[in-house]
Amino acid sequence: MRAALLFGPSDLRVVDRATPTPAADEALIRVVRFSPYGTDVGVYLNRGGRYVQSYPVGIGADFGGVVEAVGNEVRNVRAGDRVTALALAHCGRCANCRAGRTNVCLDPAMLNAPRQVCAQEYTCVTANKLAVLPAKVGFENAAMLGGPVVALNALGQLAPPSGATVAVLGGGAMSWGAVATCKAKGFHPVSIGGIGRRGHLAGLVGAIEVFPIGAHDEDASERVRARYPQGFGHIIETTATEWGLKQAIKLSAMSGRIAVTGGGPLPALGWDLVGRELVLSGVRAGPGQGEALAMIAAGVIDLKPTMTHRWPLERCAEAFAALTGPGASEVGRVMIDVTDA
Ligand SMILES: [Zn+2]
Repeated sequence: MRAALLFGPSDLRVVDRATPTPAADEALIRVVRFSPYGTDVGVYLNRGGRYVQSYPVGIGADFGGVVEAVGNEVRNVRAGDRVTALALAHCGRCANCRAGRTNVCLDPAMLNAPRQVCAQEYTCVTANKLAVLPAKVGFENAAMLGGPVVALNALGQLAPPSGATVAVLGGGAMSWGAVATCKAKGFHPVSIGGIGRRGHLAGLVGAIEVFPIGAHDEDASERVRARYPQGFGHIIETTATEWGLKQAIKLSAMSGRIAVTGGGPLPALGWDLVGRELVLSGVRAGPGQGEALAMIAAGVIDLKPTMTHRWPLERCAEAFAALTGPGASEVGRVMIDVTDA
């Protein structure tokens, strides 16, 4: 089979590799579509040295595909099923898993389990991460499911009242997914961040207002505060950066709640938290795969308008070069055609 492998930071090559064989608890998937998001870009660059320990290594997590074969313990999917997968491994047996909170599985062995890889024609995935696609969900929205899954977890924690305005910080895959999900849930999303075209794509999936920025690290808070003087009671921070955390805190209303998806050292904020009684809530992906798929099937979430580029697997390196190069601000969601639908 053909597989995109990283041989070093920013060194992605499509090479021949043996088709894998599924273990007893795994399914062999033929990958149809793969759409990279921020974590994949982090892996590609090995940003901060925290993603890759040894090369060569595969890449990609969010995909739509078809089950080709299953290991002998697998009962939840069978050959021919159209599927997508959660990025996080979970045991399926602990108290949290049994309560449906598989993203905070209590089994320590699952905490740092590797993500699946999907920028290759075939991949093996632990079957309990798989969800069967409803008939109305296409492979492309399935390959962009990470954003809605994160957003559903964030909204569950923020618990905004019906019809509330929700600020979404970012201009990328996760933020467009969050904007679309907020809109689908009846909230009013305001998008803050994103340079160039990336700052405007949120408007295509339901943002009531967009505040693009002109450069990385530009402080948009005064401009936004001029329009929303009270700040926002509910904020989803999707950039996983210090910029995003700082903006979120500056833009938070009194008693505001902020969903945090990642990021480095928190800016000095002890007194900010106390002075406005802010609540920061960590969001570790999410368990809401089924709900997100149902919303796509119902037609209330559709992320295809954020797609701007498409490449075949053989040209996967061009996709990552575009996502990280000088023209990246003009690149929205990228779709990789891995095999034929
Ligand atoms: Zn568990």
